[in-house]
Amino acid sequence: MIQRSLAEIAAMIKHEDELSSIKDVSVRGVTIDSRNIEAGNLFIPFKGENVDGHRFVEDAINRGAAAALWQKDVPNPPVHLPILIVEDTLIALQELARNYRQQLTIKVLGITGSNGKTTTKDMAASLLGQKYQVQKTEGNFNNHIGLPLTILRLRAETEIAILEMGMSSRGEIEFLSKLAQPDAVIITNIGESHLLDLGSREAIADAKLEIILGLQNEGLIVYHGDEPLLQERLDSYDGTGKLRTFGRSAQNDLYPVEITQTSAGNTFTTNRSSISFHLPVLGTHNVLNALSSMLAAEFFGVPYEKMNEGFASLKLTNMRMELVEGADGINIINDAYNASPTSMKAAIDLISNLEGYERKILVLGDMLELGPLEEKYHYQIGATLDENQIDYVFTYGKLGAFMAEGAKKVLGENRVFSFDDKESISNKIKQLVQPNSTLVLIKASRGMKLEEVVSHLQKK
Ligand code: ATP
Ligand code: MG
Repeated sequence: MIQRSLAEIAAMIKHEDELSSIKDVSVRGVTIDSRNIEAGNLFIPFKGENVDGHRFVEDAINRGAAAALWQKDVPNPPVHLPILIVEDTLIALQELARNYRQQLTIKVLGITGSNGKTTTKDMAASLLGQKYQVQKTEGNFNNHIGLPLTILRLRAETEIAILEMGMSSRGEIEFLSKLAQPDAVIITNIGESHLLDLGSREAIADAKLEIILGLQNEGLIVYHGDEPLLQERLDSYDGTGKLRTFGRSAQNDLYPVEITQTSAGNTFTTNRSSISFHLPVLGTHNVLNALSSMLAAEFFGVPYEKMNEGFASLKLTNMRMELVEGADGINIINDAYNASPTSMKAAIDLISNLEGYERKILVLGDMLELGPLEEKYHYQIGATLDENQIDYVFTYGKLGAFMAEGAKKVLGENRVFSFDDKESISNKIKQLVQPNSTLVLIKASRGMKLEEVVSHLQKK
C-alpha cells in the first residue's frame, strides 16, 4: 500500500475522535492479523465470534503497527494509543479500500464465475505481465474481507490489478464489483456451486452478472458464450460495456479450432490466426480459461503474438490439476482443491482422453454444498463414466458412495471401491499400479482434504 497519513486515512472512513495529536502518524499497509504486523501497518481488529481482535491492539502497536481502528461498542478503548474509533471495523476496512481504489490510476480486471476464477486470474496475470506491472489476488482472497485487503495491498508501481470475486449469496458480487470498479470483467461460467444457497442455476447466473454493476463506462465484459443463461441475459444488455464471448462453439468471438492434449498440457489454435499456443496445464477446460484471459489481455493492449510467452511463464496456484509424481512411477493429477459436478466432469473427461496410460484410476470424494439433489449429482458422475477409459474408481465419503453406486452400473462391482479412510485407498492403489503407465486423478471438495491421498501415494 502506498503511504498515507492517519489524517488521510481518517478522511476516507467515518470515525469519531479528534485526531489532533496523531494526525501526522504515517501508515503503510493494513493488516487484520496481529501475528503478521509489519512496521507502519494499520491494524484493523474484528469482533470475531470466538476471539475479539481488539484484545491484540496494544500488542500490535507495541510490535510496530503505526495505528489501529477500534469498534465503538467495544469497551475501554486505549485512548493513549494512536487509534481511530469507528462504528464498525469491517465496514471501515471496506470504505478504506473503496476510497483507496478511487485514488489509484490503475486498471482493474475483475473475475467471477462458478469454476476457474483463480486459474483464469493466474493466466490473465501471466499474459498482462508481458506488458504491465501486475498485481493479483493472492491465493483465494476473493470475498468481502479478502478483496478489500487485496486492494489495500496494491502498490504505487502497479499498473493492472487482477481481482478474483467470489460469492455465496445474492448481492455479494455487486458489492465487490462496486468496490473494485473494474475496467474489464470476466465471467468464466455458470456451474452448480452454491446451488444450495441460491436455489437455481438461473439465480446463480443473475448473481454472477452482478459484476457488471461495478464496471466502468465503456469497459469490457467477457463471458462464456456457450452458456445460454448468460447469453439470454446479455441479449438485452443496454449498457456502455463491450461484450465479447469465448467458448468451444464457433458462435463465439474467440474459440479453439484445434486442441491437442498431452500430459505436458494443451496446444491449441484459435479462429483468430494460425498461431499455435502452448498452455502448460492440463484439461481442455483450461483452454477456455486461457481464451477468456486472452480477450481481456487484448483489451488492455497485449499483442496476440506475445501471448505464448505469457503462457510459458504461467504458474498456477496449488492443487488445481497439478501433475505430481508418486512413488513407484505413478502419475498423479492432484485436483483436490475443489469440486463441483461441472469441474468433476471436466477433470474426468480429461483423464479419459489422455493417451499413453495403460491404467487410469479415479479417486473421487464428496462434492459439498449441492443442496437437495446432491445424491443424484453424485450418482450421475459415476453412472456416466466410460468403462473403456477408466479402469478403477475409488470413492471417499458419504456422498462419494453414491458415485460408487453409479460407477458399479458401468464398470461392474470389481473395479469400484468405497473407502472411508485415505490410507486404505492408497494401499489398494499401490497394489494396482503398473509402473510408469498409471494415471491417478484425485478430486473432491476442499473440505474432504483428499490431498492426503496424494501424500500417501508419494511415500514408498
Ligand atoms: P473457488 O470458488 O474455490 O475460488 P475458482 O473459481 O477460483 O474456485 P479454480 O480454483 O480456478 O476455480 O479451479 C477449481 C477447479 O475447477 C479446478 O481444479 C478445475 O477442476 C475446475 N475448473 C477450472 N476451470 C474450469 C472451467 N472453465 N470449467 C469447468 N471446470 C473448471
Ligand atoms: Mg478461487
